Amino acid sequence: MGHTMTTGSTGSGAGTGRIVVDSGGTVLEADDAAAERLGRPAAELAGRSVSDVLGSGADGIAVVAAVGHELRSPLTSIRGYTSLLLNRWEKIGDADKQLMLGQINHDAERVTRLINELLDISRLETGRLTLTPRWVSLPELAQSVVTSIRATSPDLEAEVAVGADVPEVPADSDKIEQVLTNLVENAVKYGSPKGLRIEAELVAGSPGAVAVTVRDAGEGIAPEDLPRVFDRWFQREHGRPNGTGLGLWISRGLVEAHGGQLTVASPPGEGAAFTFTLPLASP
Ligand code: ADP
Repeated sequence: MGHTMTTGSTGSGAGTGRIVVDSGGTVLEADDAAAERLGRPAAELAGRSVSDVLGSGADGIAVVAAVGHELRSPLTSIRGYTSLLLNRWEKIGDADKQLMLGQINHDAERVTRLINELLDISRLETGRLTLTPRWVSLPELAQSVVTSIRATSPDLEAEVAVGADVPEVPADSDKIEQVLTNLVENAVKYGSPKGLRIEAELVAGSPGAVAVTVRDAGEGIAPEDLPRVFDRWFQREHGRPNGTGLGLWISRGLVEAHGGQLTVASPPGEGAAFTFTLPLASP
């Protein structure tokens, strides 16, 4: 893997602009075609957030993520700790070993997450995402996601409420687990770890669907941000640890690939509520 990876519609042909962004969504450089298309000198684009720069005019501009640094820093940390452990094993106390192994595990998870996000992006963009559907109980999946997130966020308090007659749905359970993980982690990161409620209910229709709502008791999302939260690279505060602004964009793509929808509501004075539906028949 090189220092950059194409995540936008590729193409370096005449008239195609190209913008390079870091993982926080800040523009590192823009070529002349992109600058011309956006009506601003390239030098003025650098340093700004890519969602501000692109606005609604992203057509025909390839957004390229510079992931080299993002991958390199956890890998450097993993190599540092592993060589320390290998070379000084006898001299390091058990408590320190435990701390180092915990850090290695954390860094490895970060690398895995980044790589998975990048793979999902290119599969979603090229329409080459393959789903392996089986019958899935969404309330059970939600409960297991909550349990595993609680392992790293012990503050998490969540209730899973299941409506009457909620059937299993045909879905790729790994992909939907990823969506639920993203929604619950976001609730913890941006909302509140306390008072989370996950509701599953049957939506009538033919074929009908199951709707799952992840409702947090945080501050919610400002009305002006609501239409943008699913945009690629959108982050309200840039440079948050573990944030790329890609999570919701990917989640929406994964749900839509199943023939469902992912939407958000955030009434004033309430937390954010993300709802996805999955149809009762495979797309
Ligand atoms: P990231 O991968 O950086 O977490 P996401 O695409 O998952 O990005 O989310 C985009 C933005 O939407 C976040 O930066 C945050 O500002 C906002 N957001 C997402 N979920 C919530 C929530 N539950 N409460 C408040 N803001 C949220």
